[in-house]
Amino acid sequence: MLKIYNTLSAKKETFYPINQKQIGIYVCGMTVYDYCHIGHARILVMFDVIVRHLRRNFPSVKYVRNITDIDDKIINRSIENKEPIQTITERFIKAMHEDEKSLYVLAPDVEPRATDSIDQILYIIESLMKKNIAYQGNNGDIYYSVRNFENYGKLSKKKLDELKAGNRVNIDTNKKDPLDFTLWKIAKPNEPSWESPWGAGRPGWHIECSAMSTYHLGNNFDIHGGGIDLVFPHNENEIAQSEGANSCSFANNWIHVGFVNINDEKMSKSLNNFHTIRDVLKKYDGQTIRYFIISSHYRSPLNFSYDNLDKAKSSLRRLYTAIRGLDASESSMNEISMRFDYATNFNKALNDDFNTPIALSILFDIAKKINSQREKDIQQAQALSKLMKKLGSYLGILTTDADVFLKQGCDISAQEIDKKIKLRNAAKAKNDFSLSDKIRDELLQFKIILEDKSDGTTSWRIK
Ligand SMILES: [Zn+2]
Repeated sequence: MLKIYNTLSAKKETFYPINQKQIGIYVCGMTVYDYCHIGHARILVMFDVIVRHLRRNFPSVKYVRNITDIDDKIINRSIENKEPIQTITERFIKAMHEDEKSLYVLAPDVEPRATDSIDQILYIIESLMKKNIAYQGNNGDIYYSVRNFENYGKLSKKKLDELKAGNRVNIDTNKKDPLDFTLWKIAKPNEPSWESPWGAGRPGWHIECSAMSTYHLGNNFDIHGGGIDLVFPHNENEIAQSEGANSCSFANNWIHVGFVNINDEKMSKSLNNFHTIRDVLKKYDGQTIRYFIISSHYRSPLNFSYDNLDKAKSSLRRLYTAIRGLDASESSMNEISMRFDYATNFNKALNDDFNTPIALSILFDIAKKINSQREKDIQQAQALSKLMKKLGSYLGILTTDADVFLKQGCDISAQEIDKKIKLRNAAKAKNDFSLSDKIRDELLQFKIILEDKSDGTTSWRIK
């Protein structure tokens, strides 16, 4: 039984799909005006792990993650850069897809763009207008009237009157209530716009997600996800719009991924401490970044620092070191899997609100067992190695050949190392141990560790 912490009920609940045959999940995607940063990486990776788990446990999953390709930020960037909007959005969509691949994130089934969803957006706004939940302000913009939706605040647990008291935003005379939000913005000269019954304009951000999610998954669907910063107002407004227009429940389960801190400080514009995924990829490989992200539970804050990435790197290397040089047939793996409860416990961890730290700890249990069995029972070690790789692949790690992974990122070529190993073997054969030790130390300078085996061969790995 899968249990998920649902932001809507504020507790961990058993997950009951609306339709056993197909699970629907929608995740708020990127606004494409810049490169994705490490906070985006966490969203991409965590929902990838969640969707992989759902796919293993249900016959079919439809994963929708949108692209916001029209927005004030994009328009401003276009003015700053003197570049057409579409050139900017296409560039950053391409970059996002590259980043995703580098982090071993599988593409969603559908990736709708706001600019392709204008008809669906207008359809919802028209329903809201008919029901008197939306109105046109003096400036021509269409607003959502929060007072006319009874359940406003149910996701964020905010009360309208408390919100109003805390709202110090300057009074906008076009709105009936300062908390009302824009559904349709009338275009200023030279701004991109689409025709609508209320004049040429563009959608507000919140309405895009209401339109794209329900169009692809139906008015009531299983899971809606995003970053914790989106709970209010974005996701709250999505509920208000969709439930207001369709008079039925919107998403049943809300999953929110926690904040990423940078060196224990909040990620913010004023601190200018954003790290783009591609900058981090210059120093660490994608699997290490991925390991770092899943080593914390998705709802806990994640502290990004190069120290923590170094720790992730050495942990992942430990797992790879355990499976290096081991391979086995499927049948022996199944036998091992039954004999120990590794696979069962691994699945149990992920079924408990996607507890990736516990799932990783099971991989370390297997590594320990492999290391203890390697010399005693090679077949068992091989079978365990295969099982570990399989479970790792469920998290999107341990998918590279162990030898290739352990040898990447060193300053000396593999041929050069092999040459030195041959020289050292020759020295050893002549009992010239001072030369053989010298070569070992030389390689250690490059962080290359030599491992002498009982059969006389020597392999190497990076420290
Ligand atoms: Zn959204």
